[in-house]
Amino acid sequence: MLRQVAEDVWIHESEFCRSNAVVVQGRAGVLLVDPGVQDHELACLADDLSGAGQTVVAGFSTHPHWDHLLWHAGLGAAPRYATARCAATVRARLSDAGAQARVAALLPPDIADRVPLDLLGRVTGLPAGTTRVPWDGPRVRIVEHQAHAPGHAALVIEERGVLVAGDMLSDVLVPMLDLNGTDDPVEDYLAALRLLEGVAGDVGVLVPGHGSVGGADQVPARIDRDRAYVHALRDGHDPRDPRIGPSAEPGWEWVGDVHDGQAQRLAGRGRDTGTPSA
Ligand SMILES: [Zn+2]
Repeated sequence: MLRQVAEDVWIHESEFCRSNAVVVQGRAGVLLVDPGVQDHELACLADDLSGAGQTVVAGFSTHPHWDHLLWHAGLGAAPRYATARCAATVRARLSDAGAQARVAALLPPDIADRVPLDLLGRVTGLPAGTTRVPWDGPRVRIVEHQAHAPGHAALVIEERGVLVAGDMLSDVLVPMLDLNGTDDPVEDYLAALRLLEGVAGDVGVLVPGHGSVGGADQVPARIDRDRAYVHALRDGHDPRDPRIGPSAEPGWEWVGDVHDGQAQRLAGRGRDTGTPSA
C-alpha cells in the first residue's frame, strides 16, 4: 500500500528489512526510487500505480546493493538512473554470466525464491557530477557521497522538503561502512554525514532506505546518533546505541552482529596499516 509522506511523495514499505520505495509525482508520471524487494510487493506497487493512472517515467537506485537494484516488468521500461560511480560498480559486479547466481546465493533464504533478479541492476549512470535527476517533476537534488557503498546518493526533493537517505539515517540499522570500497571508510562516512547535515536545514520529512520515516526533528537526531556510532566504532568504544543490544527492535537483533563484524574488521585494518587501534 502506498502511504503519502509529503505533497506528491509516497512510500511503499517492503516486509524485507522495512525497505522503503519512494514514489514522487511528476507532470507526466512518477519517479520511483529503490522500488522494493519481493516479487509480490513489486507487483503490488505496479498495480497501485497503474490503478491510480500513473506510469513510471523514471527510476533511481540510491546505491549498488541488490536490495536497491530490483525492478518488475509491471513497472514498465522507464530509464533507471544511478550515479556514474554506482552504475560503474553495478557493471563491474553484475555484468558477467554468473552474476545472478552469485546474487541469488546472497539472498536471505526465507525470501530467496521471491526476489525477481531478471531485471536486476539495469541502471543508467548519470554523467559524473550530475546534481539533479533528469525528469519532468519536482526538482530532485542528487547528494552523492562515498559512505556505505560506492556512488551512494541521497536525494533531496527540494520543493517538498523530503530527504531520501538511502541506507543512512535509519532508526533500525546502524551505519554500515563500506569496508571494501574505500581507503578510509570511517572518514568517508563522517564526510557523508556532514554533507547530509548541510542539506538538512530545509528538510521536513526523512525517508531512510530501511526503517521509519522521520519528521524534521529526526534529521539532526539521526545524524548525531549515526556520527556518535561511527566515532565509537573508530575509537573502539562501546557505542551504547539503541539499535544494538537489548533495546534493538524485535527481529533486529542481528544488527548487533553487524556491529561486531564491523568493529573486528576495523580493528584488523588498523593492525594492517600499522595505525593504532583499540
Ligand atoms: Zn539496503
